[in-house]
Amino acid sequence: MITIAERLNFAYARIAKAEKKYHRNSQSVALLAVSKKKPTNLILEAYQNGQRAFGESYVQEAVDKINELKHLDIQWHFIGPIQSNKTALIAQHFAWVQSVSRAKIATRLSHQRDAALGKLNVLIQVNIDEEQSKSGCSLSDVNELARHIAQQDNLTLRGLMAIPQKRESSDQQSHSFARLNACFQELKAQYTSVDTLSIGMSNDAEIAIAQGSTMVRIGTDIFGAREN
Ligand SMILES: *Cc1c(COP(=O)(O)O)cnc(C)c1O
Repeated sequence: MITIAERLNFAYARIAKAEKKYHRNSQSVALLAVSKKKPTNLILEAYQNGQRAFGESYVQEAVDKINELKHLDIQWHFIGPIQSNKTALIAQHFAWVQSVSRAKIATRLSHQRDAALGKLNVLIQVNIDEEQSKSGCSLSDVNELARHIAQQDNLTLRGLMAIPQKRESSDQQSHSFARLNACFQELKAQYTSVDTLSIGMSNDAEIAIAQGSTMVRIGTDIFGAREN
């Protein structure tokens, strides 16, 4: 049986190899271990192998796990769709929220964040391929939403996140990522706090790293397939 530690080390090696291949600086791409629907003993195994950043998509499930693992130095990222009635729980339990796509949600997160916890790090989720079924704002809305987030007392704007449409060709995938990267570079030029482009998952990490990703989000390759 292949262990979580071995799978994690494989993911780190995969990132390092792509950094080199695409002339990115060494260690410029972070790994977010996506642990949604996976039990805390697997998170602990990854933690014991040095992994600190974990991603969750379902609020109540995540809050239970965060409380159980409170004694550990984990950086929790919320990456799922956000309903208004869940913003308080998210604001109080996470260090990062990667899926903000509306001003109203950003305002609520800021108001509900306890200042003593430090600012909540926020990524704007962009619906890069304009798919009906997916959350995220369109590229043309990014500037206005960024301005709003930057004005909130308890939020820090860190960058952009996207989940692209599954494509037939890696050229098309690459094109979507490149458009997002262009928007990210403009944002970075305007806000000194912006440093994170969260793109790339188990099946497209290399293409994302080639197009400027600074954080890949990997679940299945580390924790195995999820039962739905
Ligand atoms: C589930 C999820 C991932 C991880 O996907 P895998 O295919 O399991 O690697 C990454 N990002 C988001 C937003 C997710 O919901």
